[in-house]
Amino acid sequence: MSTSADTYRHQGLRRALGRELRQRGIHDERVLAAIAAVPRHLFFEPAFEAHAYQDKAFPIGEGQTISQPYTVAYQTQLLDLAPTHRVLEVGTGSGYQCAVLLRLTPHVASIEFNEVLFARTRQRLAQLGADGAALRCGDGSLGWPEQAPFDAILVTAGAPALPPPLLRQLRVGGRLVIPVGDAQTQRMVRVTREGAESFVREEFEEFRFVPLLGASGWRP
Ligand code: SAH
Repeated sequence: MSTSADTYRHQGLRRALGRELRQRGIHDERVLAAIAAVPRHLFFEPAFEAHAYQDKAFPIGEGQTISQPYTVAYQTQLLDLAPTHRVLEVGTGSGYQCAVLLRLTPHVASIEFNEVLFARTRQRLAQLGADGAALRCGDGSLGWPEQAPFDAILVTAGAPALPPPLLRQLRVGGRLVIPVGDAQTQRMVRVTREGAESFVREEFEEFRFVPLLGASGWRP
């Protein structure tokens, strides 16, 4: 974990990133404010820190990546979070998306499968004071039944299909935002639970994520 601080220079870089995201179609002011507030460079390994405010994905160790800012903003915008909402993130990774979610609601739970990333990120979030989320190491393709139901579930890894446990853990009116596809590309899907057995599916842009592993993901 880097010991660098957040400086005026970093804040300026974040303002520039915000302008870039706006140009690319991110229009939710709450999401843009959250991106402007979270020091993304502090979620990077020192070797990559200089690149933190480029709109790109970067390695975070263990073969995983921190999603590019556009992807984080895009998924967060689709969640349409209010401060009362309970949200589950599947794939804590670097913790950056988790810190962005915490700017929008205090009710955040996040699960990471990889034990090394989990331990590192739990410590990082605590050091940054972004420790309001419930964190767990485990298979997030099964959701987190003890914390359910959720108003919003965000999957930050590519799934082969919609994981049934995640659909079951949505509150009526709640939304699941998840990239679904093959190993190469995934389409962003938003599923809204309109009734106990009634789900509405919308499809958006294509992205490329690392695979969602686990019982309702890809078999490792
Ligand atoms: N949201 C992260 C992006 C991490 S990349 C960030 O802001 O940095 C996706 C992450 O999903 C990886 O860390 C990977 O280990 C994790 N992952 C993959 N399958 C998972 C599963 N079944 N449950 C929880 N995490 C999973």
